[in-house]
Amino acid sequence: MNRGLAFTGNRKRQVLVVDDEQINREMLGYIIQQKYDVIYAENGEEALNVIRENKQKLSLVMLDLMMPVLDGFEVLKIMQEDSELKAIPVIVLTSEKEAEVDSLKQGAADFITKPYDMPEVILARVRRIIELSEDRLIIAATERDHLTGLYTKEFFYQYASQLERYYPDWDMDAVAIDVEHFHLFNELHGREFGDRVLKEMARTINHLISTEADGYACRYEADKFYVYCTHLHEEDYESMHAELIEALVKITKNNHIRVRFGVYPSVDRSIQIERRFDRAKQACDSIRNNYAVSISYYDTEAYEKNLFSERLIGDFEEAMEKGHLVVYYQPKYSIQGDEPKLTSAEALIRWIHPELGMISPGAFIPLFETNGLIQQLDLYVWKQAAAQIAAWKKEFGVTVPVSVNVSRMDMYDPNLQSNLLRILRENGLTPNEYLLEVTESAYAEDSRQLIDVVNNLRNKGFRVEMDDFGSGYSSLNMLTSLPFDVLKLDMVFVRNVHTDEKALKLVELIMEIARYLGVTVIAEGVEYVEQYDLLKKCGCDVIQGYYFSKPLPPEEFDGLLEK
Ligand code: C2E
Ligand code: CA
Ligand code: CA
Repeated sequence: MNRGLAFTGNRKRQVLVVDDEQINREMLGYIIQQKYDVIYAENGEEALNVIRENKQKLSLVMLDLMMPVLDGFEVLKIMQEDSELKAIPVIVLTSEKEAEVDSLKQGAADFITKPYDMPEVILARVRRIIELSEDRLIIAATERDHLTGLYTKEFFYQYASQLERYYPDWDMDAVAIDVEHFHLFNELHGREFGDRVLKEMARTINHLISTEADGYACRYEADKFYVYCTHLHEEDYESMHAELIEALVKITKNNHIRVRFGVYPSVDRSIQIERRFDRAKQACDSIRNNYAVSISYYDTEAYEKNLFSERLIGDFEEAMEKGHLVVYYQPKYSIQGDEPKLTSAEALIRWIHPELGMISPGAFIPLFETNGLIQQLDLYVWKQAAAQIAAWKKEFGVTVPVSVNVSRMDMYDPNLQSNLLRILRENGLTPNEYLLEVTESAYAEDSRQLIDVVNNLRNKGFRVEMDDFGSGYSSLNMLTSLPFDVLKLDMVFVRNVHTDEKALKLVELIMEIARYLGVTVIAEGVEYVEQYDLLKKCGCDVIQGYYFSKPLPPEEFDGLLEK
């Protein structure tokens, strides 16, 4: 229904005057005809016929209350019960004071008392009532989507916020509904058919949310709908989904129609209403190409992790510039002599974020490995570590070799070797004062190229540690064919070495192979004296772990060196 638009233009508005007394009809008609196009009815029954016939263009009904056949109250009542007629404003005409209040209660917009004495007042009232009702209709028209009759997106959001004010503790779900490949209906069967499908969809959704849930809906975009309703169980969504599909199959005669639901259950009210639907939409979009699933639930945890990742990526550059990324050093002790002796250290990055506090590399290294930032970060750590070795050398007169982590991505960088050599040169160091840790899983890709890279580095004098040995995929017999100088046992072996006989046997076996290959073995993650004792007995050369020290900022590491 679009009555609001019918009123535009210079055409006179049409007003129906209903009165059983001719003199009254003529008097009123005479007053308003200068401004309006007046039509007449003599009783209630005739009035209703005229109203029904002219409902699209009638701007106002002026209704006498006391009439034979069907009186004014009954006409009012019938009009109020009809959704279309209800929109036409009514001014009642009466000479009785009490009837005025009653008629207003029954939906009349205003009243005028007989006899009619002041024409200007009457005209002013008529005009005001018509204007008011047109304004209301225009607003109503913009609140509704013209095709489906559902709310517009804007009104929907506004309505939701209002609902929130009145019912702040309702448990609500935000739902996004999307028809797959809807454009095909338009393309194959014409827009009109597409419109029919959308209307049917809107009707069914509206029906479902008023019978199976408590909520309301809007058409968000061409073929996308949003529903905001009280929290439902997954079974409820499944049955709603099935009913919607059934209705759509019926109208389209297409058994393959696919509808996706994205549900953001039990919304967090601290976030904006639009954002809540972004989440529902995100869930909905996440199954676009997944034909096995039709209903997807928004995962708050995954989303937050995602947000956190984006934040870290966004803050990275500033962190580099402002020195929020700090290199810590964890000492490694050689243990086969009488006394454990500090021999080297591993450089481990720390992000001291001004707002988020200390962030462990576990939170950002894997992330940066997927987007390439790791190369920038590693280059920075390598430089810091080299400068630190040089500084210690100067201050304490000894070289503390530092190992740096070389990520898999770095290994494929054609500039790797030249970068490393340049860094050493700039700090007056030689490659044997620097160690490279390459994780076992990088080797395990078993790429010839990778082995060549490692061999070239070793030929230049770098010593290479195979990091995390045993954590990944490599088998013991792989050890014989891969190039490296130091084997770094992964923490998983160390963790159980003092409690699990099998873990100990495995460590002993690895030690034996290492001896055969002539490589040094480092155990990392050593925390307890029992682990230390057992590893020492097995012949492990070097130990790194909380048993000796956590990774330390450079100033604290100085303290160890002074000792
Ligand atoms: P990773 O290379 O295996 O480093 C050893 C990790 O074990 C470090 O964690 C260290 O703090 C921790 N650790 C040392 N001793 C103990 C112990 O006794 N008990 C326990 N539970 N843990 C111990 P961190 O510093 O959090 O680093 C985690 C991982 O992040 C590193 O594992 C490494 O893969 C990566 N990483 C750290 N810094 C860098 C870097 O500058 N570049 C690259 N590419 N990766 C880095
Ligand atoms: Ca390492
Ligand atoms: Ca490791």
